[in-house]
Amino acid sequence: MENYNEFTSLGLSEKTNAVIRKKGFEKPTPIQALAIPVLLNSESDVIGIAQTGTGKTAAYGLPIVDKIEEGADFVQAIILVPTRELALQVTEEMNSFKGSHRLQIISVYGGQSISEQLRRLKQGVDIVVGTPGRILDHLSRGSLNLDKVSWVVLDEADEMLNMGFVEDIESILSHAPEERRTLLFSATMPDRIARLSKKYMKNPQRLEIERQQMTTNLTDQIYFEVHESNRFDALTRIIDIEPEFYGLVFCRTRVAVDELVARLIEHGYAADGLHGEVSQAMREKILKKFKVHQINILVATDVAARGIDIVDLSHVINYSLPQDSDSYVHRIGRTGRAGKEGTAITFISANEYRSFVTLQKITKNTIRKEKLPHGRDVVAVKKARILGELSSIVEQGTFGDYLGMAEDMLTSTSPEVTLAALLKMAFKNELSEANYPEFRTFNVDRKGKARVFIALGKRDGYDPATMVNMIKQKVKLADSKIDEVQVMENFSFVTVPFSDAETLLNALNKEGRGGRPLAELASDSKGGGGRDRSREGGYRRSGGRDGGRDGGRDRERGGSSRPPRRSRER
Ligand code: ADP
Ligand code: MG
Repeated sequence: MENYNEFTSLGLSEKTNAVIRKKGFEKPTPIQALAIPVLLNSESDVIGIAQTGTGKTAAYGLPIVDKIEEGADFVQAIILVPTRELALQVTEEMNSFKGSHRLQIISVYGGQSISEQLRRLKQGVDIVVGTPGRILDHLSRGSLNLDKVSWVVLDEADEMLNMGFVEDIESILSHAPEERRTLLFSATMPDRIARLSKKYMKNPQRLEIERQQMTTNLTDQIYFEVHESNRFDALTRIIDIEPEFYGLVFCRTRVAVDELVARLIEHGYAADGLHGEVSQAMREKILKKFKVHQINILVATDVAARGIDIVDLSHVINYSLPQDSDSYVHRIGRTGRAGKEGTAITFISANEYRSFVTLQKITKNTIRKEKLPHGRDVVAVKKARILGELSSIVEQGTFGDYLGMAEDMLTSTSPEVTLAALLKMAFKNELSEANYPEFRTFNVDRKGKARVFIALGKRDGYDPATMVNMIKQKVKLADSKIDEVQVMENFSFVTVPFSDAETLLNALNKEGRGGRPLAELASDSKGGGGRDRSREGGYRRSGGRDGGRDGGRDRERGGSSRPPRRSRER
């Protein structure tokens, strides 16, 4: 007897159900269960909202493949996506739904040779998947005709709008006939999408899967407060302490991605980065390395990370805060796929606190605060790892010339001293706790007040009254809100409501002093005193060492344990 598969109750044809069985889909995802019957049994336009990774492609793709006419000589469906990566992915997924349906599906996107696209379009295609710019290009060349299109899909609509494709989309829609069906799929539903849908869709049915449910059930969300100067060390501690770190690290800009990758590699980590300037060929190469765990850290911008289809991430790290709550949901939607638990970590610095408070409100405070791993714990984990590797080498028991060398070494020094010297040689000061300074937290008290350090003092001609006046000039703040004004020789402290602190910091730091910020939230641990007494360097890994992290993976791949301090190839 055939196994019961819930897909069969959605109304798809036997031809399509056979494809689903072959693909191994066992159960429709919630958005598929909602959307597929509506798309099959009505003529309604549809807005489908569900988090990234919830199978939206199949939600529209299966019914389209099912309903499309075989052997027509015109384009019947067009699927708009924001990036070429997604164009390729969606095309591949759509092709996998074809089974015995005789259909031509192609993708068109910028950066790919247009002549090849022209050739394929001429041969006749049923479904075109593409980025708005290139589709528009073909429309104006006359190489693509949408006169008889019955389906227009706007996939990842929020991202297309983010990328400024709105006019292109409107222009494409104007080429499609009135009686088409318009489907819009998105992970989030910003107002701009609502406006677009009002204008271009006919009484759309809105099908929405609560995203809160998804993110909180599957993903452990935590945040760490970090000082700007500790950000990198905080990241490496998290990576070091995890037995199997396999994560995506988000930065906001291309430059930040490049800088972080360079720094990670310099410190011996297996990392690489993706952003808009990375060529398609390179991107595919990097993704492949990541998929086979040749690298275990992938640093990316939001846009570059779109469409990355990796299911077993242990971590998503917001190295800097996402632009908005939608991006946050997109970012962390990547952990906890396939029912596995992942951890989403967000770093916030004093300057990001305000945006973070908003984010917390929107996510209903599901992000809980944790303390960064203590240096002593990182050292303990590293030591345990080294001992583990050591004993597996001892077990293998083939030492070759090393035994003789060991005997020679022991003639002049004691075993303890010899071993200690070898450890020092291999690990430098990496295993010394002193190398991991205590991270400071910042001073945000529970009553919502913040103590602000200002790098101006008596030397600069201030006293408490003129300091208050200066602040009032910079930001609109009532006297009563500026508290505990303390003016010293070279700097001052004031206490302001937390909600005003950021504005004040921004206003003061716009000017700065010789490129240094004029103001910052005061440190907690030093009793409200002192600037960041520049702790240059701080914790550093010794060059090229890799704490044994990927040693395990190397062995799994059949390689031998790597000698210490060999730098990684990119
Ligand atoms: P989204 O567009 O919502 O981000 P995708 O359509 O890219 O998600 O799907 C993510 C992954 O889930 C793909 O690899 C897809 O093949 C897989 N998938 C989709 N539907 C199912 C299902 N019902 N069962 C198992 N895997 C599925
Ligand atoms: Mg998608």
